[in-house]
Amino acid sequence: LFESVGFIGLGNMGSRMASNLFKAGYKVAVHDINQNVMQKFSDMGVDTKRTPFEVGEASEVVITMLPSSSHVDHVYTGPNGLLHGGHLLRPWLLIDSSTIDPQTSRKLSATVSNCILKERKDNWEFQSPVMLDAPVSGGVLAAEAGTLTFMVGGSEEAYLAAKPLFLSMGKSTVYCGGAGNGSAAKICNNLAMAISMLGVSEALALGQSLGISASILTKVFSSSSACCWSSDTYNPVPGVMGGVPSSRNYDGGFSPKLMAKDLNLAATSAEDVGLKCPLTSQAQKIYTGLCQDGYENKDFSCVFRHYYDGKNE
Ligand code: NAD
Repeated sequence: LFESVGFIGLGNMGSRMASNLFKAGYKVAVHDINQNVMQKFSDMGVDTKRTPFEVGEASEVVITMLPSSSHVDHVYTGPNGLLHGGHLLRPWLLIDSSTIDPQTSRKLSATVSNCILKERKDNWEFQSPVMLDAPVSGGVLAAEAGTLTFMVGGSEEAYLAAKPLFLSMGKSTVYCGGAGNGSAAKICNNLAMAISMLGVSEALALGQSLGISASILTKVFSSSSACCWSSDTYNPVPGVMGGVPSSRNYDGGFSPKLMAKDLNLAATSAEDVGLKCPLTSQAQKIYTGLCQDGYENKDFSCVFRHYYDGKNE
């Protein structure tokens, strides 16, 4: 359905996702405020644009992969942004893959659907442009390998139309319902992951103190009711399994800095809907503390160390 794809935000994740689209044969136009990465894409033969608006003018669909809600809001509604000029839009579909709060996703989706299409496309059933929120699970390695999982909110028809694009950058997609539900799914997934990593770390630390090795306790978890990803796939204790950040001094992986960001989004969203989430606040405090202690660029499973650094009083 789509031939020309715009991509805005060529950082750790976006540069790899945009490269995969380019390799898949899409006509790609990109923009980033970082001139070095723009030069890199230009050297690869990719069309580089000076503003988000210019990307939109050159593309049928535009994907954004930006640090946070304020950046996405700026790229959409700021000067020379995707929606510059207010109503007449060239792209039919706008996809935001950044991890942001569902409230901002919903607000932008409503703003986009109030715009008018500059030209109609025969096989595009919508009268106005459409926005999908489609954040991803999987870090830089999954972005590089094209094995991300996309969780998508917005119109189901637009999701089905965009699926081939997602599958050029990822291995699976989950349709989550209306606008903002992709963003909601992402922050809830990471909230559960943050807390389960803490739960497993705390139990393994207590087990060790009681004289059981982390390897044996992990075996018990794997065949019992504590079985979960944090224990059997991404174990936080050095030496229990190979190929995970804990086996290489917690280098690579998903940083406490990004985890703290996602927990802040969860805490703000919980406050917005008036739901008390005590474990969210506790996890937020612990992962933010890791960042303050200088671990902000290690993998988040280094939270296990927290039980040995005297930080858990
Ligand atoms: P990053 O900081 O490496 O990249 C962001 C890019 O956006 C940078 O190149 C920056 O120059 C660009 N940018 C910032 N403001 C801009 C603007 N106004 N116009 C154009 N470009 C602008 O971030 P990342 O690690 O690639 O993460 C991107 C998003 O994906 C975040 O929301 C993050 O939470 C989410 N995410 C990251 C990971 C991960 O492991 N890194 C995993 C899943 C989701």
